[in-house]
Amino acid sequence: MSYRPVPGDRFSFGLWTVGWQGRDPFGDATRAVLDPAESVRRLAGLGAYGVTFHDDDLIPFGATDAERESHVKRFRQALDDTGLAVPMVTTNLFTHPVFKDGAFTANDRDVRRFALRKTLRNIDLAVELGARTYVCWGGREGAESGAAKDVGDALDRLREAFDLLGAYVTEQGYDLRFAVEPKPNEPRGDILLPTVGHALAFIERLERPQLFGVNPEVGHEQMAGLNVQHGIAQALWAGKLFHIDLNGQNGIKYDQDLRFGAGDLRQAFWLVDLLENAGYDGPRHFDFKPPRTEDAEGVWDSAAGCMRNYLILRERAAAFRADPEVREALSASRLDELARPTLEPGETPAALLADRAAYEDFDADAAARRGMAFERLDQLAMDHLLAARG
Ligand code: MG
Ligand code: MG
Repeated sequence: MSYRPVPGDRFSFGLWTVGWQGRDPFGDATRAVLDPAESVRRLAGLGAYGVTFHDDDLIPFGATDAERESHVKRFRQALDDTGLAVPMVTTNLFTHPVFKDGAFTANDRDVRRFALRKTLRNIDLAVELGARTYVCWGGREGAESGAAKDVGDALDRLREAFDLLGAYVTEQGYDLRFAVEPKPNEPRGDILLPTVGHALAFIERLERPQLFGVNPEVGHEQMAGLNVQHGIAQALWAGKLFHIDLNGQNGIKYDQDLRFGAGDLRQAFWLVDLLENAGYDGPRHFDFKPPRTEDAEGVWDSAAGCMRNYLILRERAAAFRADPEVREALSASRLDELARPTLEPGETPAALLADRAAYEDFDADAAARRGMAFERLDQLAMDHLLAARG
């Protein structure tokens, strides 16, 4: 197996990932600026199919119309030369100091209106470049202290913003859906819509919920100590997994953005298993940061590693699912029983109450004595993950 990515694998990268210069709260940049056109060429050369960006990754904040046009032209040329797609675009509503108290939920109304205009303008560009997904990460929508943000009012303002965006794409006839990206904290002390669950509940209160889904990030869920496979499985179950940010994270700490697979490897295995088997057909998008220890070439090793690890895990997950012993173990652990409805078709509460086998004659002690055989099943998974079995 060569694990060589091809466009059909649908791997995509943000310009801000490979282009990260390594500036962190404690240190200056360790790498030079990377030309977006160069990133497009290198990513295509590595076998990626798509590239994504924030408006400011491509067009520096405050650029004139003429400058804007020339940046877009150069980028478009690189896309045409390489065949790379732009499946997703997003807005930078967090770098400029004007967004220090948030964008759609900033206490200052003029800042909120500016944030909406910045987003609408970039949506037009996204559609021009063929994007079908627009990600909204509310990095600065939050607070460090209790009285600073009225959460109910802020959620009203967030709903207002998303309703406006939904109305805009509908009026324009754009084929574009929004994916909300949750994150618990960083850069704010606490961020609104901190987890997949919060975001899913919020979306149902929008005017056009069908236009909104989630863009979970592996590390963001893990920063909250959550099981990323479970969060993403629930998003899929709700029909809301519109996009995904793949990376690596080691437990509850700052947002590490390691290359995919370099964090919690077991969670990465189960995530790939899920994405490959539960009907997700969107891009496999990497939102990682090549560590600031790396030079310009190290960046591409790191990017290639994301895709390679995904492909290795995809192969390992397929081997796990195809193993007859695994199938037998799944059945010994009664996964097939879980897939079976608890009630008979049309069974009413009265019918359940009348079923003596369900209660009066049910032997709870005997049922409690049954082992679930999960350890054997999980060891088989470990064996496959570690390539100790075919
Ligand atoms: Mg992140
Ligand atoms: Mg992300």
